[in-house]
Amino acid sequence: MKIRLASDIQPDSILDGEGIRTVIWFQGCSHNCEECHNPETHDFNGGFEIDTEDIKKQIDELEYQNGITLSGGDPFFQPEGALEIAKYAHKKGYNVWAYTGFLYEDLLKNKKTKKLLENIDVLIDGKFVKALKSFECKFRGSTNQRVIDVQKSLEQGEVVLYYED
Ligand code: SF4
Repeated sequence: MKIRLASDIQPDSILDGEGIRTVIWFQGCSHNCEECHNPETHDFNGGFEIDTEDIKKQIDELEYQNGITLSGGDPFFQPEGALEIAKYAHKKGYNVWAYTGFLYEDLLKNKKTKKLLENIDVLIDGKFVKALKSFECKFRGSTNQRVIDVQKSLEQGEVVLYYED
């Protein structure tokens, strides 16, 4: 399946989730958060197209990584391609984190984004809000965003936080 990415996959990140992670930067986002740190990822026609099979091959070649992070842009605008990658990453033994400007509750309302959620371990949700910007929060840019334990939240039918800092 073809997906649109903003840049090559990026191994060895320690900023985009727990441990050493490989980040996949999806192209396309219409949340328009004020002072977004990645404005070049907004254009849905920007970046470049790549086949998910190529991404899987790149995942096969990774070494010394604890997990995969889907970021962007917003991976939930390409839920089918992101799902394929998330499933493959799990098959290879990686945990999967994802960043989104949507709220967890809204992602549950759509069949495709719900399916993607079901294959995510930790979700950082919500728009970046400049007035709530904080350098104290782990793995998130503003205090409104939540670091959600997705599997526990799905089990319990309500949001369960992964971190409560
Ligand atoms: S969701 Fe992320 S990429 Fe999209 S506008 Fe907000 S901060 Fe930028």
